[in-house]
Amino acid sequence: MGCKTTCPYCGVGCGVDATINGNGLDPVRGDPDHPANTGRLCVKGSALHETLGSQGRLTRPRIQGRDTDWDQAIQYLGTELTRLRDERGGDSIAFYLSGQLLTEDYYVANKFAKGFIGTPHVDTNSRLCMSSAVAAHKRAFGEDAVPGCYEDLELADLVVLAGANPAWNHPILYQRMQKAGAERPERRMVVIDPRRTASREQADLHLALRPGTDTILWNGLLVWLADSGAWDHAWVEAHCSSPEAALEAARESAPNPETVAERCDLAVADVQTFYEWFATTPRTTSFWSQGLNQSRSGTDRANAIINCHLATGRIGRPGATPFSVTGQPNAMGGREVGGLANQLAAHMDYDTPGAREALAHFWQAPALPEEPGHKAVALFEAIERGDIQCVWIMATNPLVSLPDPERARHALAQCPLVIVSDCVADTDTLALADVALPAMGWAEKDGTVTNSERCISRQRGLIPAVGEARPDWWIISAVARAMGFNAAFDYAGPAAIFREHALVSTLSGDPKQQFNLGALATLSDRDYDAMTPIQWPVTPEHPRGRERLFQDGVFATPDGHACFIPIHPKGPARGPTVTTPLRVTSGRIRDQWHTMTRTGRAARLLQHLCEPFIEAHPDDLAAHDLADGDLAWLSNGQGRYLGRTRASDGMRPGEVFVPIHWNHQFTTNGLASALFPRVIDPLSGQPETKHATAALLPF
Ligand code: SF4
Repeated sequence: MGCKTTCPYCGVGCGVDATINGNGLDPVRGDPDHPANTGRLCVKGSALHETLGSQGRLTRPRIQGRDTDWDQAIQYLGTELTRLRDERGGDSIAFYLSGQLLTEDYYVANKFAKGFIGTPHVDTNSRLCMSSAVAAHKRAFGEDAVPGCYEDLELADLVVLAGANPAWNHPILYQRMQKAGAERPERRMVVIDPRRTASREQADLHLALRPGTDTILWNGLLVWLADSGAWDHAWVEAHCSSPEAALEAARESAPNPETVAERCDLAVADVQTFYEWFATTPRTTSFWSQGLNQSRSGTDRANAIINCHLATGRIGRPGATPFSVTGQPNAMGGREVGGLANQLAAHMDYDTPGAREALAHFWQAPALPEEPGHKAVALFEAIERGDIQCVWIMATNPLVSLPDPERARHALAQCPLVIVSDCVADTDTLALADVALPAMGWAEKDGTVTNSERCISRQRGLIPAVGEARPDWWIISAVARAMGFNAAFDYAGPAAIFREHALVSTLSGDPKQQFNLGALATLSDRDYDAMTPIQWPVTPEHPRGRERLFQDGVFATPDGHACFIPIHPKGPARGPTVTTPLRVTSGRIRDQWHTMTRTGRAARLLQHLCEPFIEAHPDDLAAHDLADGDLAWLSNGQGRYLGRTRASDGMRPGEVFVPIHWNHQFTTNGLASALFPRVIDPLSGQPETKHATAALLPF
C-alpha cells in the first residue's frame, strides 16, 4: 500500500512516497505532489527505508539500567516528579526537547512542563540551530515569521547564500536553485562563506570572507544602498522605524567598500560587484542558515541582512525576501508551540499582554511560570549547579551536540534524575539515563512537522512500532495523568492534540500575529488523517494558507512597523593564539544527519565520508609535516579531536573545518563539539559553534 509522509531529516521537509512491505518499507521515493520537493529526494532521504528495523532500537522502558514495563515506569516517574515538584518546586525540573519531535509531541511537552509542572526551563536542540534567526525575526518583524517561500529561491534574479551550504545541507532546495539557474542563465548567485563548499560550484561570485566579519559586509551594503539611490525611501517611510540609527551604525563600521574589503579580507572589486548586483536586482533573495546563526553575534548577523531587505522593501515579495532556513525537520514546529525557554506558547511571549492569563485559562493550568527559563547552555549549567534536579531529554543527544560536552556530561552524571526518551538504544546521552523510555521512530509515529517555508505536512505511522515503543505525546500524557492531571492529558490521538494546538494559536487575539491556525482547529480526525501540505497562517481569510507574509507592509510590532536594528560588529570570542593558532569551524556533511544515530545505520551513507576528518589548506598541512590522509589531532585547552586530514585549497590558510556528526558509538575521539567553547549569543542564547581555535598535531 502506498502512503505519503515526510522526511525526518533536514528543514526542507520533503514529501516521501512510501510503500509498506511487511514490517518495513520498499525503497522510498519523493512525493511528486509535495510542494517542497515535487518528487525529488536527496541521498539521505532516499535511504530512509534502510534505517528501519529493530536492530539498535530501544524496545522497553528501563529504570536504572533494568528493563521494566510501561506501568511501572509511568508510576515511578509520576511519583518522582510529584515529589520533586512538591519538595523543590516545579522549576527544579527541566525539559530538553528536539526539532526531531513532531509538533503534537512538542505541544504536549510544552503544556505539561509550563502549565502543569510549572517550570519555565523548557528548551530544545533547536537553540543550537536557528534561535538567532528567531531572535532577529522578532526584533525586526515583532514576530518569528519567515516572510518568504521556496519558490522565491527560483523566482529570484539574485540569490545570496550567506553562511549556508545547501548543496549538502538542504540539497533539494539547491537542486531547485540549480534548475532555475539552468533555465535562466542570466540569474546570479553569490556565495558568502569562508570555505569553498559544494554550493560554490554554481556561484557567479564567491566572497570567502574572514570568519566572523559578515556584519561588516552587510553593514557596508546598507551604506551602499543609501548612497547609490537604491534605498526605497517611500516604502521605508511608510513601513519601517529607526532606519537612521541603523545607517549611522553601518557607516561607523563599514563606510565604504575599501574599508569593508580590508576588514573582511576580500578584494575591493568583489565587494563592489556584490553591492552593485544587490542594489540593482529587485528580485533578490538572501538565504542563510547555521553559518550565520551559530555565533555569539548570530542575531546581529541575521538583522544585518534583514536591514538591507527592509531598505529596499524586498520582503515577502515574489523572489525578493530574507530567508532563514532551519536545519531540523521540525524546528519550526517547536517554535510554533513555544518550545523555547524564552517563549510561552504559540508565538506568545511571557510579556505578551494577556497571554499568561489567556493560556492559563485555556489549559486550566494550575501553575504557569512568570518568567522565561534557562536556554540550552545555561540549562545544563543549572543542572551542574544542582538548581535543576531532574531533566527529561527527548529525541536528542546533547552529549554530542552541545559545545563543551564534557561539562554537559558532568552535569548529567550528578543530576539526581535523568530521563531520556529516544528511539535508539545506545547514545552518549542514554548511557547516563536513570530512566530510558522507548519512543517511536520515523514511519511508526503519527503527527505533523513544519518546514522552513511554514509548510505543515503529515508524518504518518506506516509500520508497527518496534518493541514497546510509544509516541512521545503518549508517554508525556501518561506521566501527566500519573501526577493527577487527567482531564488535560486525556488525548484520543494526535488529531485531538493538533486541534488544541490550532486553537491556542488564536489566543493572542492580535490580528497582526501571522502565526494562526484557526481554520484548522475544527479538522475532523478523517481530515487530519488526509491532510495535505499547507503553509500557515491558515485562517478564515486564508483557508489554504499563505505563501508570503508582510506583503501589505504591516508587521507584528505594536505600531505595525518593521524595525531596522543598528548593528555594531563583533567578531568571534576566540581569536588565534600562539598555542592555538588555527581557527576551527564546523558543519555537516552531505550524507549524515546530526549525531548519526539513524543515518549511521545505512551502510551506503557511510561510504561518502566514512570517518571524522580535518579539512585544511595544503600549506597548513605542510607546515605541520602532514600530508593529505594522515591522522592528526586538533587540540585546545578544552578538548581534542582526532581526524584524517583532507587537503583543500578551498580552505583559507589558517582555518580548518571539522564535521559535527561522529559520536562515541563510531569513534572515541571524533567529537567536534569537544573543541567549541560555551560562548553564546546573549540575545538568542545560541552557542558559537562555528568558531574555535586549536593547534594541529600529528597523531
Ligand atoms: Fe530529507 Fe532534507 Fe534530503 Fe529533503 S533535502 S530528502 S528533507 S534530508
